[in-house]
Amino acid sequence: MSQEEELLALAKRYLYPNYRPAPFVLRSGRGCELFDTEGRRYLDMTAGVAVCTVGHAHPTLAATVAAQSQRLEHVSNWFYNEENILLAQELCQRTRMDRAFFCNSGAEATEAALKLVRHFFYAEGQPEKVRLLAFERSFHGRTMGALALTGQAKYREGFGPGVGAVTHVPYGDMAAARAAMGSDVAAIFVEPVQGEGGVHVAPPGFLQELRGLCDEFGALLVLDEVQTGIGRTGYFLASEEDGVTGDVIILAKGLGGGYPIGAVLCLERLASALPPGTHGSTYGGNAFVSAVARCVLNLIDEENLLQAAREKGEHLHHRLQQLVTRHPAVFSGHQGRGLLQALVLQPQVDPRDALAKVRQQGVLMTLAGERALRFSPPLVVSEKELDEAVDAIARALTSA
Ligand SMILES: *Cc1c(COP(=O)(O)O)cnc(C)c1O
Repeated sequence: MSQEEELLALAKRYLYPNYRPAPFVLRSGRGCELFDTEGRRYLDMTAGVAVCTVGHAHPTLAATVAAQSQRLEHVSNWFYNEENILLAQELCQRTRMDRAFFCNSGAEATEAALKLVRHFFYAEGQPEKVRLLAFERSFHGRTMGALALTGQAKYREGFGPGVGAVTHVPYGDMAAARAAMGSDVAAIFVEPVQGEGGVHVAPPGFLQELRGLCDEFGALLVLDEVQTGIGRTGYFLASEEDGVTGDVIILAKGLGGGYPIGAVLCLERLASALPPGTHGSTYGGNAFVSAVARCVLNLIDEENLLQAAREKGEHLHHRLQQLVTRHPAVFSGHQGRGLLQALVLQPQVDPRDALAKVRQQGVLMTLAGERALRFSPPLVVSEKELDEAVDAIARALTSA
């Protein structure tokens, strides 16, 4: 048996079968390349689902990991640690928010934001303000509270009853959002680009209108930038491009560059909504991951990754445009922003089969929504690597 066969047999025997992983085993990576146990090379257009901001095994990140693990890893929230204080400052300054709470994932950040908005109105003496507005096709995480907000029945089915009082309206439909609004609404949760739902970009003005609705009805706007944040769309936050500020912003994925971290940022008026004892996380804000996240933020500046994501996103946009124009029988369109884009497959093309064919050409991608082939490469990807990926897709899915 090859090493691959042995490991795959063990995986089938011991791992809980809640995923559908591709049939090989990854062992190492460098930049946008990954290598499996048999030495096969893959070009990584996923970045671990928008996580590995600076690619795999970045030497500066690796050095930070080594140095911090030899200095201090974890002390709990009974004590301050230097790295976490500085990370809070850096995130607030970059986003013009006032306060940062740390946890370990996107779903946990969603949960914390949920508790924050509910407890805010409770503490304000408006306990009737509990309803939440979220959007169809949205994704906010897999824990019970985050699941209740997630606007895709396939994720919620069989796990009811949820936290209740969530109204889902079609994404981008301003009239529906207004009609669903009321004085009992505590918050609107929205993604600037719906990532998992299929890479749907908010129509122009949509986020601004939601901001207006929140102001009018005394509700809070929670921007879920777990997938879109940390430079993914070419801006530190995708909502910057829309010119919209949230009362609460949630971050995770790209912030840790491959190490688990989540963050909730909020304005000063929410600073007393969760007093000591109301919420917490044992690992949240540990020194180790805080140092790693600070390193990711530094690299974004040093390597000019925001501008790079805009420029390379533009390049990818043109290449996808060409592909769609040349092969209308395979692709129905393309969408996205910066380095979060997708090719949408025609209904007669089987999405999992397409994904496997692209993989056989040495390119790793993920599916989003029903039929979108998603690009979410490391922000350090080169134009040459993007070209290589697009050419491989053309070879895999078209006869040209
Ligand atoms: C991935 C994602 C989450 C959940 O993050 P986890 O770290 O998987 O819990 C929440 N919101 C959005 C927009 C996401 O893309």
